[in-house]
Amino acid sequence: MTSTQPTTEPAAPSLTMTAAFEGIEGSYSHAVLDAYAARRGVRFAPLGCSSYRAVAHAVLAGRADLGLLPVDNAIAGTIREGYDALAEYELDLLAEITWRMDHRLLGLPGATLAGLREIDSHPVVLAECGRFLGTLADVRRVPVPDTGVAARDVAAAGDLSRGAIASSDAARRYGLIELADTIADHPDNFTRFILFRAPNARGPAAEFEPAEDFANRKTSLLFSVADAPGALGRCLSILGEHGLNVSKLDSKARLGSSAQWSFYADVDGDARDPRFADALRALREATVALHVVGTYDESSAPPRPRREPAIVVDDAPPAVPKAAVKHPKAQRHDENVRSRVMVGDVAVGDGHFVVIGGPCSVESREQILATAQAVLEAGGVMLRGGAFKPRTSPYAFQGLGWEGVALLAEASRATGLPIVSEVMSIEQVERMAASVDLLQIGARNMQNFDLLKAVGKTDRPILLKRGMSATIDEVLSSAEYILSEGNPNVILCERGIRTFENSTRNTLDLSAVPVLRERTHLPVIVDPSHGVGVRRWIAPLCRAAKAVGAHGLLLEVHPNPAEAKCDADQALTFGDFKRIMAELASVPSFAEIHAT
Ligand code: PEP
Ligand code: MN
Repeated sequence: MTSTQPTTEPAAPSLTMTAAFEGIEGSYSHAVLDAYAARRGVRFAPLGCSSYRAVAHAVLAGRADLGLLPVDNAIAGTIREGYDALAEYELDLLAEITWRMDHRLLGLPGATLAGLREIDSHPVVLAECGRFLGTLADVRRVPVPDTGVAARDVAAAGDLSRGAIASSDAARRYGLIELADTIADHPDNFTRFILFRAPNARGPAAEFEPAEDFANRKTSLLFSVADAPGALGRCLSILGEHGLNVSKLDSKARLGSSAQWSFYADVDGDARDPRFADALRALREATVALHVVGTYDESSAPPRPRREPAIVVDDAPPAVPKAAVKHPKAQRHDENVRSRVMVGDVAVGDGHFVVIGGPCSVESREQILATAQAVLEAGGVMLRGGAFKPRTSPYAFQGLGWEGVALLAEASRATGLPIVSEVMSIEQVERMAASVDLLQIGARNMQNFDLLKAVGKTDRPILLKRGMSATIDEVLSSAEYILSEGNPNVILCERGIRTFENSTRNTLDLSAVPVLRERTHLPVIVDPSHGVGVRRWIAPLCRAAKAVGAHGLLLEVHPNPAEAKCDADQALTFGDFKRIMAELASVPSFAEIHAT
C-alpha cells in the first residue's frame, strides 16, 4: 500500500527502473516518484515527457517501466487530462499516491514579493493559490507546462521581477529562494497520482504484483448515461446495493453526444472481486458506455483537521404573523424555510451555532497566525480581522490595508478557517472578494447604498452589521439592497445601537434577534464585543445570544489585549475565548428553550 510523504528510513536502492512523468526535473511528479522509490527501496531513472499522453506512450513503447499521472487535486478538482490519458490507453494501474502539494513562491536571490510582476506555474497550481495571488496587485499569472519548467525558466531569465510557484525541491535544484510559503488556498492541498505500467509488463516493473486479497484496493470507472431523470441514480444504487462505496464522482458532457453525460467515478474495491464483477454487469445494463479504467492499491487517507462547528442548536421556527411585503426578498415567506449561507465550507443558519473569532484589526503576521490557531483550537469556525478600519479619528490606526488582507489569507491557508473582513469602499470590493470568504459591511456603512449594490453584485456572502442608529426595518431594507442585486447570501449582525445609556459602549439589542428571526429568513448573528465594549461583560451576552436564538457570534480576540491597536478594552484573551466556547456548550439551545 502506498501512502503520503514517506516518514520511514529509505531502504538501500537495489533495482533501477525508468519512470516516466509529465514535466522536467523539479516538478511535483518527479518529487513524488523519488519519494515513492525511496519507500519501495528501488531507484527510478526519471524520464520527463512533454504531455500526459506522452507519458502513457513512453510506457507502452517500452521506453519506461512505469508511468505516473496526476488525477485530481483537493482544491482544483479532477485533472481530466490525467484520467482521460489513463482511460484512453490499455494500461495496468498499480497504485494511487496521495501527495501534499506544499507550494512555495520562488524568486531569484535578491527578489522581493513586492517587486514581482509575473508569476509562472502550472495552471492547476495557479488555481490552487488563487487567494494568495489575489492579494498581489499588478502581478501577471503565466501558465507554463509544469512547476519544474516554471522554476527553471525563472532561474534562467535572471529577472528579479519574475517568480515561480513550485516545490522547495525545485528551489534547491534551480538555485532559487523562497519568497512565501503556505500559499495554497487550503492546508489540505493533496494531489492524487496514479502509478502504472504496461499490461503484461516484464522486466523490473513485473515486481509490482497486486496483493491477492482485495483489501485496500480502488477502481476507477468512466461511464456515460442518458440525460434522463434517475439515470445516474440507478447507477449509484447498483453500486450501493453491492456494498460498494463511491469515493469520487465528477461529471462532464460526453463529447459528440449531446443527450448523454459522462462520469468519472472511483469506487472502493477490486474489479476482480466477484461482488464487484456482479455490480459491473448490472452497471453495463444501466449505462450507455462503461469503461473500467483500472484497479490499484489505494493510498491511506490524508489527515484532516477538525472542522466541526462548535455547538449544535436545534433551530425550531416560531410562527410568522402576516405582514405587508416591504422587503420582498429578505422577508420570511415560509415559516419552515430559513436560509443557510455557506461561507467556504461553513454553514451559517442551518441549526449549528457558529462562532467567529479574531482581532479587531490585523496588526502583524505573528498576531493573526497565533489568533487563527487559537480560534481553531477552541472550536471557532471562522477568522475575523479588519484590514481596512473605519476609525472615528483619522489619527487612529487605520489598519494594514492590502497587507492585512494578505496576512488574513495566509492565516486562512494555514488553518483552513474561512475569513471575514470589512470592505469600506466600492474600489476595494473586487480585490477583497478575490481573497476574503465573507465580506463585512460595517455599522457605519450599513446605509452606504452604492457599496451595498456593489457587494450585491459579487458572488461572496455578505455580513451586514446593523447601523448604530438603524431600526430593524432599515436593517432589512439594507439587506434588500444586496439581495436585489442578485446576491442571496446575506448574514445579519446585531452589534449594539446608540441609546442614552453610557455605561456600555453601545446597547446590545438582543430583542432584535427574535424580531429578525420572525421577519426574515436570513441568518442572524450577534457581536457582543462591539455591543458592550467591555471584556468582562461579553461572556454573559454570548450565552444570552445563543439562548435567544442567534445563529452565531462574532467575537474580538487578541493574543495580548493590552497592546491591541484597536478596541483593546473589549478584546478577549485566548483563555477568555476558550472559556466562552466551553460555557456555550452547556447553554440550552433556542429550540430546547422554545419547546418548554
Ligand atoms: C468591526 O467588526 O470590526 C467593526 C468595526 O464593527 P462595527 O462596524 O459594528 O462597528
Ligand atoms: Mn473592533
